[in-house]
Amino acid sequence: MQYKFKEPVLGRSNIEKYQCTIEWRNGRFIADEPPASGGKDTGPDPHTLLLSSVVSCTLITLRMYIDRKGWDIPNIAVNGNLYADAKDGKTITVIDRDILFLSPIDDERKLRLQEIASRCPISKILENESRVRTFVFRDGETEKKIKYGNEEITVVWKPEFCQHSTRCFTQLPDVFNPKVRKWVNVNGASPEKIIEQVKKCPSGALTFFLNKDSNESE
Ligand code: SF4
Repeated sequence: MQYKFKEPVLGRSNIEKYQCTIEWRNGRFIADEPPASGGKDTGPDPHTLLLSSVVSCTLITLRMYIDRKGWDIPNIAVNGNLYADAKDGKTITVIDRDILFLSPIDDERKLRLQEIASRCPISKILENESRVRTFVFRDGETEKKIKYGNEEITVVWKPEFCQHSTRCFTQLPDVFNPKVRKWVNVNGASPEKIIEQVKKCPSGALTFFLNKDSNESE
């Protein structure tokens, strides 16, 4: 596994309700909530940031494509908005994106650019399956560890170290299965077999401890 960014986006909450400072690799900006939600609107709210991501990604993707084709379409505007729709007992968020060509364009190119816009990277993230994983740390702790245990053994996985060598799940698929959400099933084999496999992890992403020998919790 390799993260897209060397430096993660870092947010810190400020004393002023609900202002927070977002630091990215080349600067920082303020995010907030509108007064209706108890904030002071000193920066974009999270939904606006999400829409900004769709809008900017659309514009950048179109610009790159137009430049590659050498087309003369200098000015484009995109607006985005969203609403929640209830369907079959589920709430679905619908994002509408309007692309406005501010210079002349024929129908064929317009349709082609509509298709290109629909495949911009952020659209793909939002429309394909994605997950938000949450890790918690105390101050001073930085290493992500996920533990999978039963009463005898606990397997510890450090996702940042995993090189996706596939060794664990090709050699012991009853225990390691990346296609399911809880991907380590420590009840899938004997502790001895699990230990043997964990020791073959080339990156050190997998470690184990026997519960009877350890004071570790969780
Ligand atoms: S063997 Fe180690 S590095 Fe390879 S996929 Fe499994 S956990 Fe990741």
